[in-house]
Amino acid sequence: MARTFRNRIGGREVPARSGRTFLNLDPANGETLGEFPASGPEDVNDAVAAASQAFRSWRLVPAPKRAEIVFRAGELIRARKEDLARAMTREMGKVLAETRGDVQEGIDMAYLAAGEGRRMYGVTTPSEMPDKWAMSMRAPIGVAGVITPWNFPFAIPSWKLMPALVAGNTAVFKPAGDTPEMAWHFGKLFEEAGLPAGVLNVVFGSGSQVGHPMVEHPGIHVISFTGSTEVGLGIAGKAGGIGKRVSLEMGGKNAIIVMDDADLGLATDAILWSAFGTTGQRCTACSRVIVHEKVHDELVRRVAERATTLKLGDGLDPATEVGPLINRGQVERVREYVEIGKREGARLVAGGEAASEGALARGHFFRPTVFAGVKPDARIAVEEIFGPVLAMIRTSSLEDAIRINNASSFGLSSSIFTADVNRAFTAMRDLDTGIVYVNHGTTGAETHLPFGGTRGTGNGHREAGHTMLDPFTEWKSIYVDFSGRLQRAQIDNR
Ligand code: NAP
Ligand code: MG
Repeated sequence: MARTFRNRIGGREVPARSGRTFLNLDPANGETLGEFPASGPEDVNDAVAAASQAFRSWRLVPAPKRAEIVFRAGELIRARKEDLARAMTREMGKVLAETRGDVQEGIDMAYLAAGEGRRMYGVTTPSEMPDKWAMSMRAPIGVAGVITPWNFPFAIPSWKLMPALVAGNTAVFKPAGDTPEMAWHFGKLFEEAGLPAGVLNVVFGSGSQVGHPMVEHPGIHVISFTGSTEVGLGIAGKAGGIGKRVSLEMGGKNAIIVMDDADLGLATDAILWSAFGTTGQRCTACSRVIVHEKVHDELVRRVAERATTLKLGDGLDPATEVGPLINRGQVERVREYVEIGKREGARLVAGGEAASEGALARGHFFRPTVFAGVKPDARIAVEEIFGPVLAMIRTSSLEDAIRINNASSFGLSSSIFTADVNRAFTAMRDLDTGIVYVNHGTTGAETHLPFGGTRGTGNGHREAGHTMLDPFTEWKSIYVDFSGRLQRAQIDNR
């Protein structure tokens, strides 16, 4: 019997009002892991009511005290890291080393966000009038609606919810349908850390039945979304129409540039890790390699050879290097893109098919796939596939490589491998993604630096880093006149 989980609303665990449920499956073998409420707009209403009620007192709790609860949650996450990582591998498939890293990001973020509770700096500045004081401070927005994807089911909620709570907001959190259990643990850990009832509400269910009503709900004041560009832009349109603030983190088509002076061994390691880690299902996954013609054939040979030897399997098996895709639909999507790549005339040099030998038949496995001779504007070089498919593109110069990188409609991360400091600094200046790496793959963000992208990847916000509070606070400017007389700025100071 699968374990039954419930929504967390107003400090209580409750089923969906409709009584409906959905199943959480293990993508490596199809086993049922749990049964979750398939909630609807009426459950969103309940969660918003609880969050609005809790906001009245939570916003008045001193920020360092709010932050202490986040810190305590970090301590609890640290104590349970291994259990959480194992549950995550079962729930969404990536290998244990990676799920441990995902949980570690939650721990790092808890400590970082907790520190903000004692900073949250505003600005004190001179007034242009005598006997007048001027300053600015951050104020919470109210109820934050948090909608997350399944590929980083602990880290991404941490980037969003921890700063939101430290800043004095309350929240309604809808996790991805493919990873509800991690969100349940997240809510439970915060309860154990001492978070008051109603401050964090977790509502399980689909994008249309829970996510969409959250976007439209007048009681939710800001939406923080990570997911696909298609869904994100739909949310932006609806929220924009009613004047709601939205912070979006969306797709990527990240490139590694390899110059003729690069350390090819290091570049190969980084390409393999960036392209096939999390089975290519990372927003920062490397899906394009733009390689100098002088080293093109050698790099293609090395990458294809290594990709072919990667071991597929259940992420809980220590020998596994590449886990399953998240669900059957994603296998179909990857298969279609492989056909598109072939039709476009690219040369398939590794993988290219689903893997179903032995125990793999029970899960959603696809072989790490490499295409060479890909044209920069081919569909497999332009569209986000979100699977283990790498497009290798030949280039003749750094200038051309940067142009190809920047022509993408996404702008999350990019990378260059070179031993030439002049080329490295040129790339740092001219690659116009939100994150740039030098001699390092496209993945591996640290929580204390801003995270996010340009163009189709985002709408100007950055998560984590020193920017973490920006999506979740309003600036309030405060003037205190202690002159005892009417002073009119811009008029009396002429
Ligand atoms: P998705 O299909 O866009 O779903 C993301 C979240 O939105 C899920 O919780 C989903 O619920 C919900 N949702 C779906 N339709 C909605 C609607 N109409 N209104 C409100 N919410 C709705 O993305 P995904 O497949 O889970 O994740 C993969 C995508 O996320 C990729 O494009 C990847 O690049 C992107 N991503 C970006 C970043 C970043 O920081 N830039 C990080 C990680 C992932 P259901 O699960 O119930 O459908
Ligand atoms: Mg699942």
